[in-house]
Amino acid sequence: MAENENSGCTHNCSTCGSSCAKKDLRESLHEGSCVRKVIAVVSGKGGVGKSLVTSLLAARMNKEGKRTAILDADITGPSIPTSFGISGERVMGDETGLMLPVETKSGIQIMSMNLLLKDGSDPVLWRGPVIAGTVKQFWSNVAWKDVDFMFVDMPPGTGDVPLTVFQSLPIDGIVIVSSPQQLVSVIVEKAVKMAELMKIPILGLVENMSFVRCPDCGKEIHLYGKSTIEKIALDYGIPLLARIPIDPDISRAVDEGKVEEVDSEFLAGVFDTIAARISRTH
Ligand code: ADP
Repeated sequence: MAENENSGCTHNCSTCGSSCAKKDLRESLHEGSCVRKVIAVVSGKGGVGKSLVTSLLAARMNKEGKRTAILDADITGPSIPTSFGISGERVMGDETGLMLPVETKSGIQIMSMNLLLKDGSDPVLWRGPVIAGTVKQFWSNVAWKDVDFMFVDMPPGTGDVPLTVFQSLPIDGIVIVSSPQQLVSVIVEKAVKMAELMKIPILGLVENMSFVRCPDCGKEIHLYGKSTIEKIALDYGIPLLARIPIDPDISRAVDEGKVEEVDSEFLAGVFDTIAARISRTH
């Protein structure tokens, strides 16, 4: 669809003669690809651990025996390849120009801007429509092989790019990542409203950096005061999937590219909850 086709749109289709809103804006997968379920991981702002949670969820899902992939839609801040230790690798293409995702040690298929840059530290200085177009290509011009669950590491916030991604990819559900120092209720409310507008179910909340565990006595230390996430989850009727502590072992594993080796006991049961809440098929 042309980028300007929706200019002047009030999103009130009842008073508009244009046929654009009735068009399915979703991009198609390449004919040889197969992706069964797509889960978007979102956050209100950067730095709360959205990419970490995406990596941990994918690693856990893969361990549960599901064929898993990550589409890194955080084009300007792609950190997924680093956490899996594949940031030095480059995406290859086949003879038709289709991009082949890079596979991690445990077989998770990854597509990320970081795998296309000559130097991973090069900044991506692109405007929104170009970034959104790249994400669409990561969906439709990549050979995704027999994927049960794809996790999409979304750009933070609710701006132009996340919106385009939600319209272009067949997202089955959303996982919200927050941290206790944020105004969590506002972030959750925004995400809930966005999900309602997009008609996509929220699968659950993950509170990252929830607490620090004392290495001597094991007690939980709440650096930002008592968490309100349980009450918020209850208020909105959304499952609390996990509370993840700030853990130097996790950050070391990410820095060393070994996120697949993190003991993710705190994610036990998440797969069942997610699978039960995803109903739509495509
Ligand atoms: P976002 O995707 O929200 O911008 P990241 O996942 O990139 O955030 O996390 C930011 C930094 O914080 C990374 O270096 C990551 O390894 C670290 N980090 C995130 N969560 C934790 C945690 N629970 N324990 C230790 N380090 C963490």
